[in-house]
Amino acid sequence: MNGAAGNGVIPARHGRAVRLKQGQFVELTNTFGQQVVDTWAFGAADPTERLSMEDTRSKNSSVYARAGDVLYSDRRRPMLTFVSDTSPGRHDTLLCACNQAIYVELGCEQYHRNCRENLREALAAVGIDRREAPSPLNLFMNVQVGPEGQVQRFPPASKPGDRVVLRAEMDLVVVFSSCPQDITPINGALCTPTDVHYRIIDAGPIPVVAQGEPL
Ligand SMILES: [Zn+2]
Repeated sequence: MNGAAGNGVIPARHGRAVRLKQGQFVELTNTFGQQVVDTWAFGAADPTERLSMEDTRSKNSSVYARAGDVLYSDRRRPMLTFVSDTSPGRHDTLLCACNQAIYVELGCEQYHRNCRENLREALAAVGIDRREAPSPLNLFMNVQVGPEGQVQRFPPASKPGDRVVLRAEMDLVVVFSSCPQDITPINGALCTPTDVHYRIIDAGPIPVVAQGEPL
């Protein structure tokens, strides 16, 4: 689903692009609870403007993205507001999208699906040609920074049905990738990527998100 409203699935190991109008919300549900979702955003009018984790960390003075935060573009303009979150609130802004070179480091001899390629595929499906992959917002990726700056990776702290809601602060193309990582336990101890689901909600009052609502 690449239209302006509706529901959809991000199939395990794949990416999808969705278009949001300013003021619309997208609710992303971690249907099975342990799936990391790499997330990017680009200006619909000018896709060279993109969601920037480095500018967001700078503006918010935090390495974490949490409900209540505004997420900024590389021109330091608000792109998304992180409206709500039923999960324990662990969302990484530091680590790169997985890519073929990482899977080679992990011993893969064949092509392995990866978030960087999922981004390219998803953008191509909506007519945007983009080769390089900005740093993603890694929703549900449980990365913590130790007192000496150590980057520590843990399985997601989320549970089935946890959901986040983001509001578009400008017209956007948002890309979600259901991370294909099945070698390390970043997508949970079973190392099994799963589908996640999304719902686009029209502009209006901030939607109330309660644990256990049906999709
Ligand atoms: Zn990945």
